[in-house]
Amino acid sequence: MVRGRNDVRLLVELDGEPVSHFRLREFENRDGLAMVHESVVDSLELVRRDLCAMAGEEVWVIVTDGVRTQRDLERLADRIGWVDEGGAVARNSKHLAKFGGIAVDVTARIASSRDRVPQSTLGDVCRRHFDWVKDDYSDGHVHADNRGRSLVAG
Ligand SMILES: [Zn+2]
Repeated sequence: MVRGRNDVRLLVELDGEPVSHFRLREFENRDGLAMVHESVVDSLELVRRDLCAMAGEEVWVIVTDGVRTQRDLERLADRIGWVDEGGAVARNSKHLAKFGGIAVDVTARIASSRDRVPQSTLGDVCRRHFDWVKDDYSDGHVHADNRGRSLVAG
């Protein structure tokens, strides 16, 4: 691990106030390449805000996967399979760099207890703030993307 790599705070405005709870490194692929669409940071801050309000305390929204190269995607498909072959990896995944960093996989935990926020709860809140959400993965993560706000159709 290289110190300081992508250790950059991402600052956005929420209701006119600057907020920053995410860093660029959270969106890295395994090689340290990072790309994130501006709308995704807005959406993640809104999801975090809503979850904190619901819990009445600090909730961590954890990005488990962001942008992927074609090679990243193939490596993942080797492990869990392509959708058209019964797996879970879409060939035209919105995680691909060509879509501009519009997709994230997330989980969430209550900060004080480390208890995981249920997948369906996280999915419901993500649906308020992302264009498209899938929340039935067996490992409990939620996929969210802003495909409607990206330049590339599809
Ligand atoms: Zn995903």
